[in-house]
Amino acid sequence: MTGRTHDLAAFSAIAYVVATGPLLHMSLATGLVAFTANLIGGLTPDIDQPTAALWHKLPGGTLYSRVVTPFLGGHRFISHSLIGIGLFGLIAHFILQLMSHSLLTNMDIVWWSFMIGYVSHLIMDTFTREGVPWLFPIPWKIGIPPLAFLRIQTGGFFEQFVIFPGLIVLTGYIIYTHYTQVLLFIHSFRH
Ligand SMILES: [Zn+2]
Repeated sequence: MTGRTHDLAAFSAIAYVVATGPLLHMSLATGLVAFTANLIGGLTPDIDQPTAALWHKLPGGTLYSRVVTPFLGGHRFISHSLIGIGLFGLIAHFILQLMSHSLLTNMDIVWWSFMIGYVSHLIMDTFTREGVPWLFPIPWKIGIPPLAFLRIQTGGFFEQFVIFPGLIVLTGYIIYTHYTQVLLFIHSFRH
């Protein structure tokens, strides 16, 4: 999947949680940081490839990518697995803990947003040809549907013209059907 599909899927996932979960109260600052963390989470699993969207967004990112990517074992490896979810969850927790001294935001909410973005990435990749090694180090690449040729090709026609617009419609539908809750959420921002 391309970076923009992952960003959108991460947003759809968080919209679903906000719309259907218990009403959350947070400051506007927390909301904005959480929104950013969600998008970053949606792109993070692909830092195992030097061309990943996230690297281009970081200053000097291409340089870091040469150092970090070999450790992650190549594309769709440890960062695309259950162990990877745990590992990156810990790293994110650690980084947010450090940042909490300078940022007055609710880091629990920010962490959950990051993780929702992260997991949405792996779910989306499960529908692509390459599949996802969910059970790493067991090398099975798991995909839905099980027959690889029926799955989506990254950046292909189906992703661009069916999945991407489909996600927009789905997100719109989620917000529309939970409109009151979404409005309450927006109005609940404390300043
Ligand atoms: Zn990926």
